[in-house]
Amino acid sequence: MTARILDGARVAREIRAELTPQVAAFAARGGRPPGLGIVLIGEDPASQIYVRSKARAGGEVGFWIDLHVLPASTSLADVLALVTTLNRSDRHDGILVQSPLPQAMGEGATRQVFDTIDPAKDVDGFSAESVGRLVQNRPGLRSCTPAGIMELLDRCGIDPAGRHAVIIGRSDIVGKPMALMLLHRHATVTICHSRTPDLADTCARADLLVAAIGRAGFVTRGFVKPGATVVDVGMNRLSDETEVRRFFGDGSPRIDERARKGSVLIGDVHPEVAEVAGALTPVPGGVGPLTVAMLMKNTLAAAEARAGRGT
Ligand code: NAP
Repeated sequence: MTARILDGARVAREIRAELTPQVAAFAARGGRPPGLGIVLIGEDPASQIYVRSKARAGGEVGFWIDLHVLPASTSLADVLALVTTLNRSDRHDGILVQSPLPQAMGEGATRQVFDTIDPAKDVDGFSAESVGRLVQNRPGLRSCTPAGIMELLDRCGIDPAGRHAVIIGRSDIVGKPMALMLLHRHATVTICHSRTPDLADTCARADLLVAAIGRAGFVTRGFVKPGATVVDVGMNRLSDETEVRRFFGDGSPRIDERARKGSVLIGDVHPEVAEVAGALTPVPGGVGPLTVAMLMKNTLAAAEARAGRGT
């Protein structure tokens, strides 16, 4: 069997194309476009790429993007002061502080920053208010990555109701909200993590398997029930040619790609899973673009709500 590829990039383009006229209508009604404040602290290369793609996507759908790039030496107090300013601003409907924050800011800095963002502008969906609303299945701003996965499943005609969903990973931004969203859609949900015994056997009972671990090619064929839907959230970089050959095979175009770019992206799911799964999200071009599209959707929703028109 060769898995059906769930084309996240195509679905993300669809979502953004739907948003563009809605953003224009918002701007025409309110005399200003929705505004998104993005804060990047430090020089983490992956964060720089994510922020650039979020800013570009926001500009393309018609948002006003206010990008703040701060040096890694910025104090936590200064970041909190900036967030407070953005909270008070009428022009900013959404605020995004890219994580991870520089380690020098200290433990607990991320939570402090996220706790400072006005929940009405929390377009990442990480605030206690947003998470509480998700737990209670009330309308609110949802964490973008799992919300994007739900959109993908819906638009690809994959209904989680009555299915056994297994999620590997219990992070606040992916694993836990994913579990809740699937639960609300009537899946029977199992959450696995680094202390789960018999991980492969548990996963092999899943109709829907979501891998959000952060380990290259961790989910191999033995984790997957034949015909299952597999969603690969992982974004890992391989720079060693031997590793690229080991995962993708000697004839793979990824070998040339690594030579040109210095590294290639790989998910948490081993490429061999395509031979067993019924449907599979690719990396790149799967979950990543959806995360950005859902950020756009959240920003418009936050703007509509602040203008008194949303839920
Ligand atoms: P995280 O906070 O590091 O969480 C990883 C989870 O995986 C933890 O719950 C951990 O268990 C579990 N885990 C680690 N090793 C394991 C093992 N050997 N067996 C079973 N479980 C194991 O990561 P995250 O933020 O959720 O991100 C996960 C991956 O998704 C990363 O590759 C990240 O880059 C990617 N990501 C992609 C997008 C996107 O848009 N595509 C968005 C967000 C994240 P414990 O809790 O027990 O430690």
